[in-house]
Amino acid sequence: MVIAGNWKMFKGPAETDRFLDELDLPSGVEAVLCPPFPSLATATGRGIPVFAQNVHWAAEGAFTGEVSAGMLLELGVEGALVGHSERRQHFGETDDTVRRRCEHALEAGLRVIACVGETESEREAGETADVLRRQVAAIPRHEALVIAYEPVWAIGTGKTATSEIAQEAHALIKELHDTRVLYGGSVKPENAAELLGQPAVDGALVGGASLDPGSFAAICRAALS
Ligand code: PEP
Repeated sequence: MVIAGNWKMFKGPAETDRFLDELDLPSGVEAVLCPPFPSLATATGRGIPVFAQNVHWAAEGAFTGEVSAGMLLELGVEGALVGHSERRQHFGETDDTVRRRCEHALEAGLRVIACVGETESEREAGETADVLRRQVAAIPRHEALVIAYEPVWAIGTGKTATSEIAQEAHALIKELHDTRVLYGGSVKPENAAELLGQPAVDGALVGGASLDPGSFAAICRAALS
């Protein structure tokens, strides 16, 4: 099981240091933290794999505001999230840029968590399977890549997908792509065991509940039950 904590734009270096001092993880779970860029150097070397929240497709160049895989590797960062729905919604990320970011990160030696998921209106219009087919088709096949299924309507909203919805979407993604699939969308200590108990759910990508060391550790413990 992989339990990845996506901190989004929360926790600078000082808060990151405090979080790691307090974190008490069970053994047997592959926990990963994804702090914002300025906190990456503080988070690496503390016994837990660190991923960035984004990575560019070029090795270097005139790309203001972006960072390359090589720069991340130099800090001891092991991987990157790619295609999070907040990047797709607010920063113009497309299936094509997701593919390019994934390919470059993997070639450079980073691991990747590639995110897919439908919006509420796409689900209501019965388009979930088509959206997932389109998004998954853009994601390269590679042993260092896992997919996170994150229904957009469940991210940061407190609305969790039912375990049946998660299982159905994960099963479809696994038909399309030979990889592990993490679930993301309002995962908390209270609902983690049920979601993680679904046969096609191989872990979780956790946003809000990963910001507290106690609740992140509780979700990691739920993965062992
Ligand atoms: C996320 O940021 O990937 C996420 C799933 O957020 P939350 O757990 O807060 O819904």
